[in-house]
Amino acid sequence: MNIINSNLKFKNGLAYGNNPKMVILHHADSVRCSIEDIHQWHLSNGWSGCGYHYLVRKNGMIYTGRNEKAVGAHCIKYNTISIGICCEGNFNAEDMVSAQYSALIDLIKSILNRYGISKVYAHKDFNSTDCPGNKFPLDRIRREISGQKVNLIYPGYLLKINSNLFDGNVKVVQEKLLGIGYNVGKYGADGYFGKDTFKAVRRFQKDRGLLVDGIIGRDTWGKLFE
Ligand SMILES: [Zn+2]
Repeated sequence: MNIINSNLKFKNGLAYGNNPKMVILHHADSVRCSIEDIHQWHLSNGWSGCGYHYLVRKNGMIYTGRNEKAVGAHCIKYNTISIGICCEGNFNAEDMVSAQYSALIDLIKSILNRYGISKVYAHKDFNSTDCPGNKFPLDRIRREISGQKVNLIYPGYLLKINSNLFDGNVKVVQEKLLGIGYNVGKYGADGYFGKDTFKAVRRFQKDRGLLVDGIIGRDTWGKLFE
């Protein structure tokens, strides 16, 4: 799991003493946004800055907002007893991509473990809002956190060799391949679909009796994450 320190500059002092008993999930209600965008929006609300503790972007990158020990500004009445995670996107209008889902699960699990807690809620469980959106995979997240096996959803496009383009879904595939014993090259799961990943995909396809083309479509994805 890769967490990037955003080094946000907060206005006025943040209040400390957050005592997390739960994780509360949000969406940005914006198809594309960075942690700096959110910081600016929240500064314009007259707040000290970004009200969340983390932002998970669609490419699977995780950015810090407030320090975990700082009281959040994301869920009225629960800000002193929770960690607030925001997901880039508008989940009334779109589905969550696997790279983002996978990073979110890792982040939630690490937080629950560190605090010895188990509760995961949506913003709308507590406040009058539709956040994080009706297509947000809350049930799926709760099932997975509670230890049930959940398959990653096919991203909906073909993953092909392209060593110049970072793709969070490629990273998810590389991590899976590594986990089941396929070497993806010296750079490991870096999110770039280079020739070593291509070879690994072909070997996997051959071993599983799939069409051996080195392209990850619905069938290969399905076999990888079944
Ligand atoms: Zn929210």
